[in-house]
Amino acid sequence: MGLWFTEKQTDNFGITMKINRTYHSEQTDFQKLDMVETEEWGNMLLLDDMVMTTEKDEFVYHEMVAHVPLFTHPNPKHVLVVGGGDGGVIREILKHPSVEKAVLVDIDGKVIEFSKKYLPTIAGKLEDPRVDVQVADGFLHIAESEKAYDVIMVDSTEPVGPAVNLFTKGFYSGIANALKDDGIFVAQTDNPWFKADLIQQVFQDVAEIFPVTRLYTANIPTYPSGLWTFTLGSKIHDPLKVKEERFTEMETKYYTKALHFASFVLPKFVEDLTKKQ
Ligand code: SAM
Repeated sequence: MGLWFTEKQTDNFGITMKINRTYHSEQTDFQKLDMVETEEWGNMLLLDDMVMTTEKDEFVYHEMVAHVPLFTHPNPKHVLVVGGGDGGVIREILKHPSVEKAVLVDIDGKVIEFSKKYLPTIAGKLEDPRVDVQVADGFLHIAESEKAYDVIMVDSTEPVGPAVNLFTKGFYSGIANALKDDGIFVAQTDNPWFKADLIQQVFQDVAEIFPVTRLYTANIPTYPSGLWTFTLGSKIHDPLKVKEERFTEMETKYYTKALHFASFVLPKFVEDLTKKQ
């Protein structure tokens, strides 16, 4: 049978896959980190026994975090990633020629170190001269930044451990201050099957701060339930009103111009989460 890993979403449901071997396992200062080889999904990073990324399906998440806000903004130059130590979002950001500087702030240097070693196709652009990698708490970085960024992406773990603060209204207010006057931010906001309350709360909090607030989804097979949400807050630019000419040619595997708009079309039970209770 070999060794199987299960990420438990509840006591009664989980997502299971076969593990060929473990490359590295340790308790860092912040979380339990495992880097493993799976039979089906290639190398995989786990934090606190939750799937963070796999070589086979990582492109969905990383493209959807990066390209939706970056194509919505007319001229993104300065971009911040909070979390994202595996480097996948940075790789996608650098595909945009307007980007002059991409700052990555992950609290855990071990995630960066082991992603470079075992996930080179994902982390391979972290050494690019346009990238400034900082090992620090993203919450504090946001609190200390003022009108510094065109786009901010929150590529965090779930709201446990070091990421708890990254799902608070205070953090979203800080993001609004850290963004320029026409800035945009996006955060991964988990799945609507098991985390409906979280999505609803985040959407309401963001909507009280940002004039344009939108929810979009992507299909990510190795994340619990497969249906993943992203919450976007914007001061001016609306992702649903991006003009045709803004979409330039880019090599992607999931994101397309049509999908940009389609990802905002929500199943009814998900759309309901964006309505006030
Ligand atoms: N794509 C994944 C998902 O949705 O499951 C998450 C990617 S993982 C690289 C998220 C990263 O957020 C981790 O490397 C973790 O160290 C980082 N993180 C958690 N809390 C943080 C904080 N307060 N400041 C900065 N980074 C944080």
